[in-house]
Amino acid sequence: MEDKELYTPMMQQYINIKQDYADAIVFFRLGDFYEMFFDGAIVASKVLEITLTSKDAGKKVPMCGIPYHASKVYIQRLVSKGFKIAIAEQVSLPGKGLVEREVIKLITPGMIIDEGILNANEYNFIGSIILSEHGYVLSYADISTGDTFVIDGLSRVEIIDEIKNLKLKEVILSNTSDQQLMNFFKSESILVTEYKIEDEIHSKLIQSLSSKEVKLSASLLLDYLTRESKLELSHLMPFKELTFKSYMHIDHQVFEHLELIESNSKNPKSSLIYWLDQTLTAMGSRLLKYTVTHPLKDATLIEYRYDMIESFKPFEPRNQLESLLDQMYDINRLVGRIASNNGNAKDLVQLKNTLSLIPELKNVLSMYPGNLILELNKEIDTHETLYEKLQLALKDDAPLSIKEGGMIKDGYHHELDELREIALHGEDWLENFLETEREKTGIKNLKIGYNRVFGYYIEVSKGNIPLIQDEFGYIRKQTLTNGERYITESLKVVEQKLLTSKERADKLEYELFVELKEFTKGFVESLQKLSYLIAQMDMYLALAKVTDLYHYVRPKLNLNGFVEIESGRHPVVERHVEFISNHITMKPHEIFILTGPNMSGKSTYMRMFALIVIMAQSGIYVPANRASLPIYDAIFTRIGSSDDISGGKSTFMVEMVEANEALTKATKNSLILFDEIGRGTATYDGLALAQGMIEYIHKHIQAQTMFSTHYHELTQLSEKFEHITNLHVKAKEEKDHMVFLHQVERGASDKSYGIQVAALAHLPEAIIKRSKQILKVLEKESSKLENNLFMFEEKVELEHIIPKDIQNILDDLTLIDLDKLTPIDALIKLKYIQNQIKQTKKDS
Ligand code: ADP
Repeated sequence: MEDKELYTPMMQQYINIKQDYADAIVFFRLGDFYEMFFDGAIVASKVLEITLTSKDAGKKVPMCGIPYHASKVYIQRLVSKGFKIAIAEQVSLPGKGLVEREVIKLITPGMIIDEGILNANEYNFIGSIILSEHGYVLSYADISTGDTFVIDGLSRVEIIDEIKNLKLKEVILSNTSDQQLMNFFKSESILVTEYKIEDEIHSKLIQSLSSKEVKLSASLLLDYLTRESKLELSHLMPFKELTFKSYMHIDHQVFEHLELIESNSKNPKSSLIYWLDQTLTAMGSRLLKYTVTHPLKDATLIEYRYDMIESFKPFEPRNQLESLLDQMYDINRLVGRIASNNGNAKDLVQLKNTLSLIPELKNVLSMYPGNLILELNKEIDTHETLYEKLQLALKDDAPLSIKEGGMIKDGYHHELDELREIALHGEDWLENFLETEREKTGIKNLKIGYNRVFGYYIEVSKGNIPLIQDEFGYIRKQTLTNGERYITESLKVVEQKLLTSKERADKLEYELFVELKEFTKGFVESLQKLSYLIAQMDMYLALAKVTDLYHYVRPKLNLNGFVEIESGRHPVVERHVEFISNHITMKPHEIFILTGPNMSGKSTYMRMFALIVIMAQSGIYVPANRASLPIYDAIFTRIGSSDDISGGKSTFMVEMVEANEALTKATKNSLILFDEIGRGTATYDGLALAQGMIEYIHKHIQAQTMFSTHYHELTQLSEKFEHITNLHVKAKEEKDHMVFLHQVERGASDKSYGIQVAALAHLPEAIIKRSKQILKVLEKESSKLENNLFMFEEKVELEHIIPKDIQNILDDLTLIDLDKLTPIDALIKLKYIQNQIKQTKKDS
C-alpha cells in the first residue's frame, strides 16, 4: 500500500488497522457487513468461495464481504484453515464524518469462545512451549471452558505426540528454534507465534506451580492470551501441573492405528469412542475423550475410576439421572462466555435452567447406595442464590441481542415496569387515536404508521385526501404516489413519550443484564467445580451403562507382570460382526510370534489386546469374561499399513520409523505390538529385519511383545529363545476353500495360506493353479537355506553401535541454529543436553 494518502479516509482507517494486525485477516465492519480488502479479500474470497469484487476507494481496491449475522460460519471456515481474524467494529455512533473503528476481538484457531464456531464435544486448546533444562515445557488452555494444564520435561518426540493427541491448532513459542519442531508445525498447519516475556507474571493461576520454568511457560501463555484475545479471562482456572510420568505413554500413531477417537475410514462407527461415548452432556463427552486419551499408571487412581463405575451401576435411578443430565447445558462454556463478556441473556437463561435441575439431581443421587456417590453429592452446590436471582429476573424467551430489551421479567425492577407501562398505555392511546380520527374524518381505511424519519404518521389514500379539513390540524409530511402522510401535534407528544420510554427501558434492561452478568461472575469458580462434578457423573454413568450393555468386566491389576484375559473381545469389531472371543495368557518378558493366513484375525487379536490395556488403564471396564493385567508404562504399535504418502514416506519407511520409536523408547514394562513388520520389502531382508528386531527385544528390551507375521519361518525362533512362544490363528482348508475360525491357539501355523486367500478373492483359476506349482518348487528349494538362515549366530556386537539416545543428542547438537539463539537460551540448551547425557548414563 504505497501511498496511504491516495485512498479515501475510510480506506486509510482500514490500512492503519491492518498495520497493527499484519498477520490477520481484518473483518472491517461496514453497516450490516464485514468487508475485507486488498490481500485479505483475495485470500478470504478463495477460502470462503465468495465473489471477489472491487471498491473505488481513491484507487481500485479488491474487496469481498459477508453479512454480519451469518459471520460465524465464515469465521469457522477461516479459523479451521489456520487463519487469524481481527474483528474491527464500529465503536462510535454513525453521524457526520468517519465512524471510528477498533479491533475488539482477535479470533485464532486456539482463541475461540463463540458458540457455533466450537465443536461442543471437543476441547479447543492453545499451547505455549518453552525449552527448560529438563526438556520442553508445554502449557495449554481452552479459553472457552477455562481449563488450563502444564507439563514439564518432554522430549521432542513426546511433545509432538502430545500436541497431536491434544489436537493443538495453535502454539506460542518463546526460546526454541528447533527446526524439526518447526517442520512439524508446518506440516500439520499449526499456527505458530513467537512471543517473549521478560519474567513470570503475577497471577494466582500459577502460584502453586512447582518450578520457575513451569511458571514461566504458563506465564507466557497467560500473558499472550490476555494481550491478544482482548477478552476478560477471569474464568481461567489455576494451572494443573501434570507429570508426564504418571500417564501411560501412547504415541500418536497408536491413537491412529487403534482408532481410539477418530476412525481411519471416516466411518465414525469404527472408532472406540463412538461406542463408549454414551454421555449426555458436552462436559461429560469432553472429559471422556480426555480420559481415554490419557491412560494412567497409578493403580489407586485407576481403581477409583472402577469404583465409580461400579457405584453408578444400579439400574433404578439411572433413568432419572439420565433424563436430568440430558436437559443440562454446557456450564463450562456458558461460564466462559459470560465471564469473558461474550455472553447474552440466553446464556444466563440456559445457566438458570441447568441450575433449576440441581436440587432434583441431588435428590436422585442420594438414592444411590455407597460412599463414593455420597461424597460426590456432598460436593455439589445447588447455587440457590444465583438461581433465585436469575429466575426472578430473566424471561425464558430472552433474545440474543442484549441491546434491544425483552430480557427482563415484569416485576423485577420498578422503574422498568413504569417505563413499560407508559409504552403499553401509549399503544392503547394510539389505538384510540386511530378510532377517533377514522370517525372524525369518515375515512375507514385511515392508517397509523411509523418510520424512522417521521416517527408516527397518519396515512390517507389518494381518493380520500379531499376529506381532510384544516381544523383537523393535519400537517402534511410526505406525498406518496397513492396517498399522503400527515402528523398532528398530539401524535407527536405521545410519540415523544413512547419513544423515550422504549429507549430508556432498553437501556435499563441492558444495565440490569450487566448487573446480572457481574453477579454471576462472582460464582465462576464454584460453577466450574459444578461443571466438573457433572462431567464426572455423566462419564461414569455412561461407562456404567456400556459396561451393562456390552458385558464388560472390571479388570484386576497385578504387580507380577502376568496377563490373563479370558474370552477377550475387540470392543469395536464385536459391535459389527459375531465375534469369536480369544484368551491371552502371557508371562513377563514373553514374546508371541503370531502366525496365520491373511484375514484370519491376527491384527484384530493384537488390537484387541492394545484396546483392552488402554481401556483398563483409563479406568474403564473391558470386553472380556475376566482380565488380570499388569500396568504398562507405554504401548508401541506398528499395525496396519497406513502409507504416509503426503509426508513422502512409503509403507516400508513408515513401518521402520514406527518400529524405531518402539525399539528406542520401550522399557521392560512396555507393551510392543508389531503387525507384519518387514513385509514392505523383499522376502529375505524383511525376514532378516523381523528376526533382528525380535532378538533385540528379547535380549535388550525384554518388553512383552506380540509379533504377527506371515513369515512362518520365524516360528523356529521359539526353539532358541527362552521367552518366545508361538501362537497361530486357526483356519481350515476345505476343498480349495478357506474357513477362518478366528481362534488363537498355541503353536505355529503349518503354512501361510496366501494362495488360498487369493482364491477367496476370486483370482482366475489358472493363476491359482500355476501359483501352487511354483510354490511347491520354491518350498523345496528354500528348505535347505531356511534351516540355516534363521539360526545364524548374532555376529554384530550391538554395543558397538551408537546408542539411539546418544545419537539423538548428537542430532540435536548438529541442528542448533546458533545464529538464532540468545546467550541465555544457549545456556539453557546446553544444560538440557548435559542433563540428557547424565540421564542416559544413569539408565545404562
Ligand atoms: P489379519 O490381520 O490376519 O489379516 P484381520 O485381523 O484384519 O486379519 O481380520 C480380518 C477380518 O476378520 C476382520 O475385519 C474381522 O471382520 C474378522 N475377524 C477377525 N477376528 C475376528 C474374531 N475374533 N471374530 C470374528 N471376526 C473376526
